[in-house]
This record gives sequence, structure tokens and C-alpha cells, in this order.
Amino acid sequence: MRGCRRHRPSDPHCPICAGRYARRVARSIVASKPRNLAAVEFKTDLDIGEFDPFRVAVRNLIDFQRRECRWWRDFRLWGWLSSDGHVRGVAALDALQPDEFVDAFLRWPMSVRRIGVEEVEAAVVAAVRPGVIASAGRGYQQVKLVIGPKGVARVAAPVISVQRRVIEPMPVLVG
Ligand SMILES: [Zn+2]
Repeated sequence: MRGCRRHRPSDPHCPICAGRYARRVARSIVASKPRNLAAVEFKTDLDIGEFDPFRVAVRNLIDFQRRECRWWRDFRLWGWLSSDGHVRGVAALDALQPDEFVDAFLRWPMSVRRIGVEEVEAAVVAAVRPGVIASAGRGYQQVKLVIGPKGVARVAAPVISVQRRVIEPMPVLVG
């Protein structure tokens, strides 16, 4: 992601880069038509090395919830590791109640506060502003956790293959 005039990619410790990044992320969150928004904070104690296993654990937990209950299907989460070891961000709870979300994550204490669409940017800024976000070099990839809705690719894939079959048959590979 492009940062300010001096930083490409973005430097999370530059206020201009951080502001641009927060605006861009907030815009894409709002454009995804989120329902039931909340500002979330995992009260964890993670360093940068522990964040990756944490991301995997959160993904696995949400995959598990989605297999058990369809109400998790359109749940979405955008989070960033903070330098105090917490993970702050925004969730679209969709069909879930805040306590159902918290109950699923009992292994990590957390706070959930309902917000409106107009508060998304402030919630992202609160997570990514310099001095809050964890230090991990340039860009946000290493300190970011994004959980998208389930089934977007799966819904799109059959449509494409049907069209392709009509226009030009796919080669059949044998062996
Ligand atoms: Zn910058």
C-alpha cells in the first residue's frame, strides 16, 4: 500500500501514512456494507512473534464456529496488533450478538463496543495510529488480522466455470 510522499510502502510510524491508511481501510469496511459494527479489543499480551500463531488460532476458531453455526458466515474482523500486546480493531458482527462473539473467544479477554458506520474511521485510527500500533517495519502486513466473510469465492467460482463451459470447453486431463 502506498503511503505519503516520503514513504512507499506506508510507514506505520508516520502520522500521514497512518491517516491515509486508516481512511482507506475505513472506506473499504463501510463499502462492504457491514451490519452490526463494533469496536473490539483483545486484551492479549502478544509480541510480534506471538501474533502469527494468534492469527492462525483466531482463523481456526472462526472456521470452527462457521461449521457449527451459519450465523458466523458473514462475520468479519479487522484487527491490528498494538505495542501494548492488545489487538484493536473493528468487527462486523452481522447476525451475532456481542455476547455470542465474546463467548466464542473466552480464551482471550476482550471488550466489544457497538459503533455506527460514522465511527469506523475513528476506531481504525485508534488501532493504527503511531504510538499505538506495534512496530514491525514498513507496511501493515505483519501486524494485521483480517477475517473476511465466508463463501465469497465459493459463490463466485461455479458461475465462472459454467460460463467457461458454454463458451469454450475446459480440457479434460486424464491420468
Ligand atoms: Zn509517511
